[in-house]
Amino acid sequence: SPNSRIALVTGGNKGIGLEVCKQLGSNGITVVLTARDQARGTSAIEELKCPGFSDVIFHQLDITDALSITRLANFLKNRFERLDILVNNAAIGGTERPTIFGSIPVNKKVQQFDGMDRTQRLEWLFKNCRETYQATKQCLETNYYGTKQVTEALLPLLQCSPDGRIVNVSSSVGLLWQFRNEELTQELNDIDHLTEKRLDELLDMFLKDFEAGRVQVRGWPTEFPAYKVAKAAMNAYSRILARRHPALCVNCADPGFTSTDMTLNTGVLTPEEGARNIVRVVLLPDGELTGAYFQEGQQASFL
Ligand code: NDP
Repeated sequence: SPNSRIALVTGGNKGIGLEVCKQLGSNGITVVLTARDQARGTSAIEELKCPGFSDVIFHQLDITDALSITRLANFLKNRFERLDILVNNAAIGGTERPTIFGSIPVNKKVQQFDGMDRTQRLEWLFKNCRETYQATKQCLETNYYGTKQVTEALLPLLQCSPDGRIVNVSSSVGLLWQFRNEELTQELNDIDHLTEKRLDELLDMFLKDFEAGRVQVRGWPTEFPAYKVAKAAMNAYSRILARRHPALCVNCADPGFTSTDMTLNTGVLTPEEGARNIVRVVLLPDGELTGAYFQEGQQASFL
């Protein structure tokens, strides 16, 4: 409908992103479902076209591809002249996946994990995913720099909305207690002084440390360090943005440990449950809360 709010979700073709699209659409919001792969995106759209659902539109978006981002921004500008809600959901795990999982269908629970608790499942993951330099670099490029590029390209459209909102899908493993370096923690938490340029420098330093095997000694997070550092950087960027754009509402939300491709289906929540924790933050009735972090729907500390 002409009056409905317009939401864009990155990585909307599967997992939590697809469920976020479904739930926003069921709330009368026009959803622009994006995916890097045209075929995966259009088949996801088919799943969403059902009674009681408002408009859903597909547009291709690879968050690491500047041209793809520009095309999307132009499309939104021509079609709607604004954007009300941006959900930065797309991300990758930052490791090479164990090959035995190549054939497991999307979003099916794996029997192997029945009877294991959250800690045991995570331990299994740590043991079975390989952290390589290439995967580490790709993770920073996608989860942090990609998210940032998309956000920057869409900011002018969000500023045209009377109630512009950004929800960055984050994770409890990106919280600052994961860092065992006091100086780093303080710097990342000192939002009044932290700059994007300094964030870039810190990420460069992390990458060099990873390459040189210095992750442990420098006090970076261990076990999936790239994923954790990229989420921590996204959290910091989110807080910087919130400060810089007081008219917008910019928050981070952790869905909880969810069974999707990313977690090799080890998660304890269903994608629907995980998505509910994101959608709750998107639809916060008080659109004044900004620069905050929500863990499974409840406001919590970035520390
Ligand atoms: P999935 O792996 O199921 O989905 C990830 C989505 O991101 C896919 O649609 C994928 O597309 C897309 N994607 C990856 N790279 C790009 C790219 N360059 N451009 C566009 N899209 C891309 O993971 P989840 O659903 O679990 O994760 C969704 C979000 O939730 C992520 O931000 C994740 O970090 C976060 N999260 C997840 C938790 C969990 O337990 N599952 C816990 C905490 C946070 P494609 O299909 O083409 O690969």
